[in-house]
Amino acid sequence: MPQRIVTDSMAGLRMPDFDVWSERVATVLGQNPGPFTGPGTNTYLIGTGKRPILLDTGIGLEVYDPLLVRGLAETKGARELQEILLTHVHQDHIGGVAQVRARFGELKVSKKAWPGKDEAYNVPLTYIEDGACITTDGATLRAIHTPGHAQDHLCYYLEEEKALFTGDLVLGAGTTVVPEEGGGLIAYMASLRKLLTFDIAVIYPAHGPAIRDPYKKLRDYIAHRELREQQILDALQAGMREIPSIVKRIYTDVPEFLHDAAGNSVLSHLLKLQKEGVVRREGTQWFLL
Ligand SMILES: [Zn+2]
Repeated sequence: MPQRIVTDSMAGLRMPDFDVWSERVATVLGQNPGPFTGPGTNTYLIGTGKRPILLDTGIGLEVYDPLLVRGLAETKGARELQEILLTHVHQDHIGGVAQVRARFGELKVSKKAWPGKDEAYNVPLTYIEDGACITTDGATLRAIHTPGHAQDHLCYYLEEEKALFTGDLVLGAGTTVVPEEGGGLIAYMASLRKLLTFDIAVIYPAHGPAIRDPYKKLRDYIAHRELREQQILDALQAGMREIPSIVKRIYTDVPEFLHDAAGNSVLSHLLKLQKEGVVRREGTQWFLL
């Protein structure tokens, strides 16, 4: 039995500052590398015209502003943007909105609403729902509501390329975090299964490189979580009660400094199992039912 299904990671991964990925899609890197963002956030320029759509805006770093201007000119021969789309409200996606609007004018900014979270960024938002259609020259994008990582999370399906922008739901390498407030693991697994029903040629994630074998990636992501769940059930069966001891047993190949993150992942699973009536909680202890 394998110890883990997803074996690649973001560690040490590098991406160019800007790049052309297809006739319609170019990237400008958000310049925010880190343990959870990998090389940084991919912000996407989408369309074949002189006013492409910008999907996600990075975290709002000063170095991103001139890079976006340059990337737009060199990849699209353009100086303007049509509008901004967001995958979700996290800082490294919405954080650059004010900066981009200061540079390119008062662009429309669309996302799915997350009341209580959106207000913190103080930017004018247009709310869209699952199924919303956004078009620009050469590109038709459909929004797909995919909670789990974030409640407001939208993937976008680019019809002309059968390409799927997955935001933080599916990453170019490694796995994503599934916080309870984002919808939790039950919602996350449902979102992955929902994506399997689309006709997908390529996945463009918010972090890391394009994924050319989309169904393998989606199935691996599902299998990875299913294996983790089984490992956690086995640990409980073996008498372990606390998250740190479960982490120690399961994440033997993960360096100690990532054990807190691993603990959050174990908690996601335990909360899912609790909702499903498989385990119960007493303080910090967990028991099989
Ligand atoms: Zn996120």
